[in-house]
Amino acid sequence: MLGLRDKTSLPFGGAFVNDDTSPLSWVCKQSSKAPSTTTTSTTTDSTQQGEAWVLHGKASWSATHQDDQPEKVAAELTSAFKKLVASMGQAPNTLLTSSEVDKVLSLVVTPAIHAHLWRYAIATPPLNVGYMWDPERGVGVCGDWCNGSKVEGAFMSGYLLAKAML
Ligand SMILES: Cc1cc2nc3c(=O)[nH]c(=O)nc-3n(C[C@H](O)[C@H](O)[C@H](O)COP(=O)(O)OP(=O)(O)OC[C@H]3O[C@@H](n4cnc5c(N)ncnc54)[C@H](O)[C@@H]3O)c2cc1C
Repeated sequence: MLGLRDKTSLPFGGAFVNDDTSPLSWVCKQSSKAPSTTTTSTTTDSTQQGEAWVLHGKASWSATHQDDQPEKVAAELTSAFKKLVASMGQAPNTLLTSSEVDKVLSLVVTPAIHAHLWRYAIATPPLNVGYMWDPERGVGVCGDWCNGSKVEGAFMSGYLLAKAML
């Protein structure tokens, strides 16, 4: 989680990072997420002056760096975020002017950075069976691990299991 001192002009709420050299897999502005019943005041920036961005490391990068100190991980992911923002000011896919890039980079606040390792965040590989249902025993299981490892997969997994049961 990266804290920025002020709102940014970044023209997106989230982005997949399709750059093999970057440790980042995707980044997301916390306030652009749908409100969650488990979201606390420390993880939302909707009422704050600044902005919070979640920087997700690539699974492969995180596996290599899982024993690193959180401060080192936070510094590397922050550096990758800065590089990503800087690249948005460069041709051919210019999204930001150079002054907008400088403004965003100047908003990064070093003390407002926190790194957390979700060791088992992603099922690799997910089963991709949708759900499992044993009608004889009346037992069913569902979740993102059955269906693509993402939240929409979890939703569809539960939906499909319910359909199979009813
Ligand atoms: C850091 C992080 C950020 C993410 N951000 C996003 C995002 O912005 N957008 C997005 O689409 N997806 C995001 N995801 C992915 C998303 O959270 C998952 O795909 C989704 O939560 C999977 O839903 P699920 O119901 O399969 O599992 P979970 O949400 O993990 O639910 C499983 C539940 O089972 C409970 N449980 C486990 N074991 C037991 C037990 N023995 N007894 C009783 N209860 C148990 C757990 O406590 C948990 O409540 C993120 C994942 C992580 C790790």
